[in-house]
Amino acid sequence: MSIKELDTTYIAHTYKRFPLEIVSGKGSLVYDEAGKEYIDLGSGIAVTSFGVADDVWQQAVIEQIGKVQHMSNLYYTAPCAKLAEMLCRKTGMKKVFFSNSGAESNECAIKAARKYAAETHGPDCSTIVTLKNSFHGRTLTTLAATGQEHYHELFQPLTPGFVHVTAGDLDELKALADTTNIAGILIECVQGEGGVVPLSKDYVQGVAALCKEKDILFMVDEVQTGNGRTGQLYAYMNYGVQPDIVSTAKGLAGGLPLGATLLGDKVQNVFGYGDHGSTFGGNPVSCAAALSVLSRIDDALLAEVREKSAYLFDTFQGAPGIESVSGLGLMIGLKTKKPAGEIVAACMEKGVLCLTAKDKVRLLPALNIPMDLLRKAAEIIKAVCAA
Ligand SMILES: *Cc1c(COP(=O)(O)O)cnc(C)c1O
Repeated sequence: MSIKELDTTYIAHTYKRFPLEIVSGKGSLVYDEAGKEYIDLGSGIAVTSFGVADDVWQQAVIEQIGKVQHMSNLYYTAPCAKLAEMLCRKTGMKKVFFSNSGAESNECAIKAARKYAAETHGPDCSTIVTLKNSFHGRTLTTLAATGQEHYHELFQPLTPGFVHVTAGDLDELKALADTTNIAGILIECVQGEGGVVPLSKDYVQGVAALCKEKDILFMVDEVQTGNGRTGQLYAYMNYGVQPDIVSTAKGLAGGLPLGATLLGDKVQNVFGYGDHGSTFGGNPVSCAAALSVLSRIDDALLAEVREKSAYLFDTFQGAPGIESVSGLGLMIGLKTKKPAGEIVAACMEKGVLCLTAKDKVRLLPALNIPMDLLRKAAEIIKAVCAA
């Protein structure tokens, strides 16, 4: 059987794959089984922060694999401790819990919020508020957090205690806070899966202020927006706010599984021995990869991300066949006249890999994509949208 036939026969049908097998790559170029070259503007959904098989990243991974690949959380390992220190130093957060994915990083955030609220305000203070149109993961609890009904169907009952409010409507949230014991509010500063929709500065600052006033934990899901993606190390840094809890994953280790939940002042000591755990969490190879990735996301790289973002906005805004451009940094959504799926298929044919998010074409290129490749890909997308 061919790879495609094996996959269709033996893999559960949860993914509708493109008719394309990727066998190798370098940076922002990837190659299919016939040797055809593609410019990758998806980065494995914001995961390969420095592209595919990047030399510096590879060296960090190989070096750690040759020392020790896993020891469990029963022992100290250097990459895990050093990465936690780097994350706290760069964010002002106080403690870190490591896991393996975005959903798990949110699970930990929710557990931290529930325990803090139960201890501080009593066991009835357990509601977690999230936004309509949000996405927080696929476990039964993070599905409950996800404010999109179509993900919930046929998986009931989900974890109770979640309420979804309208993004941008601070009055609705204030009214809810007057009648409900809210433990925490979890937001994405830019809704990714929801269609690359940034929240307004007023709203995010209003949520943060309300949280402070009512001792509600202000939690930011930086799984997709984190690690340089929006032109700041974390998206909340564009908004002039300081969260109590930050969850992140996708781009953190540049292509290896790693989730992190960062705990601020209020919740830094909420967990005691045995309260939470993960066998693979803090894996030394993933952490060594993340140390390499994070140490390269400096001011110069972030400035480059913002410049490339401005270039993409300039190129696409008002272009024929493109109705609007949304996003922040190198997280871009295009509302196109033709259906997004058709645009993505036509771009693939012409050697450019894009994603969709709801009814939009979504671009999540590597943070270090060379300008010439970005220009070439953008011209192809423009031509496809105009056709
Ligand atoms: C992708 C994503 C998740 C889920 O991450 P997994 O690693 O797939 O569990 C959670 N929140 C946001 C905002 C995401 O984009």
